[in-house]
Amino acid sequence: SSLQELLLSRIKDVPDYPEPGIVFKDITPLLADPAAFTALTDALADICLRQGATKVVGLEARGFILGAPVAVRAGVGFVPARKAGKLPGATLGQSYALEYGTAEIEIHADALTPHDRVLVIDDVLATGGTARASLELIGRTGAQVAGVAVLMELGFLRGRERLEPALAGAPLEAL
Ligand code: 5GP
Repeated sequence: SSLQELLLSRIKDVPDYPEPGIVFKDITPLLADPAAFTALTDALADICLRQGATKVVGLEARGFILGAPVAVRAGVGFVPARKAGKLPGATLGQSYALEYGTAEIEIHADALTPHDRVLVIDDVLATGGTARASLELIGRTGAQVAGVAVLMELGFLRGRERLEPALAGAPLEAL
């Protein structure tokens, strides 16, 4: 579609970042283009409204940049899922495996309730480990998962398969 063409044209491939052999998808040109950033925000807000979400959970750090304007546009609250140790209040944490070692993300324990329907937003779905950990966190609050929405899915890494059990039928939408 023309939306996909616009978005793709503003994502830059950066070879050998952050290490040799990785091609990093750099979204900063998209963020710098108000027409593209607005079109992306509107498309993600449409998903948010269509799925009946009451909260957006944004994954640190680019999920904050995309998720915050989406929450404002959709008229729902924004909840940051942060790397461990950054949130000041009582937290729930979930660790997940990286290629080497583990990482952990946290949300405030009182940020979501069983009355919430939550849309997870991030820029790129790679292996799916980060998004999967966020879904497990959300599940522990009793909130419902409305879905996961990302700008870009790197299909060859099969993150969708890794996410599917935790989605429990909710959609993964990649623009
Ligand atoms: P995963 O947990 O799915 O392997 O990795 C996804 C996380 O790493 C996301 O939070 C995403 O921001 C980041 N990430 C992984 N690869 C890329 C990439 O090529 N470009 C960007 N912008 N982010 C990436």
